[in-house]
Amino acid sequence: MFPISIYTGGTVENGPMGATYNKAPSASYPAPDDLTFDDLKRKIFQLTGINDHENSINLNARWNAGTGGSHCFVLLPICDNSMWRMLVEKTLSSATGWSIVELFLEAVPKSGPTHNDPGGKSQSNVECPENTSDNPTQESREENQEEPLPGEKSEDKESQEFTDEDSIDFKPRDQSTLYVGRLFYSLDDLRRAVREYHIKQNRKLVTQNSSTDKYVVKCMDPECGWRLYAASGKDGDYFQIRTIKGEHVCSNEVDGQDHINMKSEFISHLILDLVKKKGDASPKEIQDFVQELYRCRPSYGKAWRAKELALDHLFGEWKASYAELAPYLNAIQVANPGTKVEWWSDSTTDPNVRLFRGVAWAFAPAIEGFKSCRPVISVDSTILCGKYGGRILIAVAYDAEDHLLPLAYAVIKDEEDESWSWFMRWLREVVGPRPLCVISDLQDSILSLFNQPDSGWYTGTGQAFHRYCSRYLCESIRDTFKNDDLVELVQWVSRQNQLRKFRSGMMRIFHINQEAYNWLVKLGARPNEESAYHSWSLCEDGGFRHGIMAANGNECVFNLFPRIQELPITALVELAFAKSAETFANKREAASKIEVEKQLWSNKVTATLEARRAKMSQHQIISIQSQSFFYDEVEVEKRTKVKHTLRLGHDQRSCSCQKPKLTGIPCSHLLTVCAFRSFNANCLVDAAYDARQLLAT
Ligand SMILES: [Zn+2]
Ligand SMILES: [Zn+2]
Repeated sequence: MFPISIYTGGTVENGPMGATYNKAPSASYPAPDDLTFDDLKRKIFQLTGINDHENSINLNARWNAGTGGSHCFVLLPICDNSMWRMLVEKTLSSATGWSIVELFLEAVPKSGPTHNDPGGKSQSNVECPENTSDNPTQESREENQEEPLPGEKSEDKESQEFTDEDSIDFKPRDQSTLYVGRLFYSLDDLRRAVREYHIKQNRKLVTQNSSTDKYVVKCMDPECGWRLYAASGKDGDYFQIRTIKGEHVCSNEVDGQDHINMKSEFISHLILDLVKKKGDASPKEIQDFVQELYRCRPSYGKAWRAKELALDHLFGEWKASYAELAPYLNAIQVANPGTKVEWWSDSTTDPNVRLFRGVAWAFAPAIEGFKSCRPVISVDSTILCGKYGGRILIAVAYDAEDHLLPLAYAVIKDEEDESWSWFMRWLREVVGPRPLCVISDLQDSILSLFNQPDSGWYTGTGQAFHRYCSRYLCESIRDTFKNDDLVELVQWVSRQNQLRKFRSGMMRIFHINQEAYNWLVKLGARPNEESAYHSWSLCEDGGFRHGIMAANGNECVFNLFPRIQELPITALVELAFAKSAETFANKREAASKIEVEKQLWSNKVTATLEARRAKMSQHQIISIQSQSFFYDEVEVEKRTKVKHTLRLGHDQRSCSCQKPKLTGIPCSHLLTVCAFRSFNANCLVDAAYDARQLLAT
């Protein structure tokens, strides 16, 4: 048996936990485990009074797609038995701790709308329960109404009244109130709802019995006699109000005083949002806030305790985890001088308590090694699904072999624009003043740092450059324009090093989708800029991205820690440190082998140079305009009949193919001219690829 709640006549809204319904359920029904979709529909027609000859129904289940303890509800259309059985099985196995099937129901007239009789109701095809719930004549038509309305039967033998669970079927008497049949996911939820109702009414309660399977409360006024009885379902997985006896006749004068049933735990749930937004809210502000909501004012002491509890609900697990993390990070810092750690928190009214927002760290060997890497960093983030939630931010560098080198990490509680700003400002302090290119996704919070003079990443200083990751660029194109051919073309265009290929590619994009063309032209541009091709295309890059097109932070994180998303934070830091140490040990070993073999460049660059040298035989020098050492202008003709113009001299080493500038490695054309002029091509290779640099990383 499992409980089904049926909602109809209201609308679906999106709340903080996802989809929710703006009305109380119209009916609740304990269903047998093997209920089929057809049986379900029959039961729904019976319970709601919707005429099945004239209407069909659209069913959506409220499905908990949350992970761990968190709830995130989405609507799942249920149109056939297989979908329905899947839902039932998942609910019965209750992987998410959710064991109630909630169905949102919409009745659709089979032969079009026939609302031609606004005054009467007999002609209406759709009998929405909320239209009829106040109408006893409609209710009496319910076929399945075997139980009398609450209060009509003796209340003394409450526990025997509902032995036949199958027959529980009551319409809510008031949508926002307590009513017989109402289901609660837990005793806590039930208690909170009962208290809230009474605090709003300014009536006081005494609990008579509160146990794992039973909850009985009555009015504090002995003259009043109001009483509520609720019991758990057979498997103890939900609570249901079984009887409510009488109506309150006690006084509920508004006195603005404290309410005996308003405990600090209750208040703590009311003020979660307030405390989240404003960690330093004072007890007086909390008193005012509660008084605004209800007609009573909690005592100062209660408000103070409620805030402590709310902080615990919001940050308790983090607090515990960070209590462990702080000494651990301190120990790493002591053992590895030069390791940087940065905490990010907000102040509260208590000078000893701060609200945690994030922590960032960079290990000393990574900071040291980065000095020998090309001046490129890619930044990326990924969500943490563990108990604590949050996000990990990572900055990755590239060594001379193009291996990824995790440079810095941060774990943040919530991803906000501010998080990137905080992390990037700190990162600049860690890496020091040095011209650096940052590759990232397309979010504005990162780009905007490069337009802020005080961010440490202001492009105006010539010390910082921002480039988009081509993978994120393509994802964005795919999401925006839904055209796979276009995505492929944009990827090709973004990676071209020759201007003429870039231009012809852009023309093709213009013809395929003009909107996409305009989007690409404006991408990354400041308001006063015509275009910012350098932000995403290799050919306009100017060599700052060193040929690196994609931000590989996520890849790096998952390679290092395949299960990172499930780790508690302390384990995450420990593992990051161990993996970093291992990565650097491996690198040094690989680099030392290269030295032994007297190799000048990293393996990757050596291989690239060899491949380019092999192409030299395909080129022919067709003219050399100057014999001066400083300026050579040479044309080389390939078999493809494409001519390239080169400059080779003291400070000049360029080719119209752009490869030397964009990658820091001479192209086959330049190598051809070097050979002709007996010029040592080795000094044209970027120093960052030097085998000695590799050893230093
Ligand atoms: Zn009362
Ligand atoms: Zn070239």
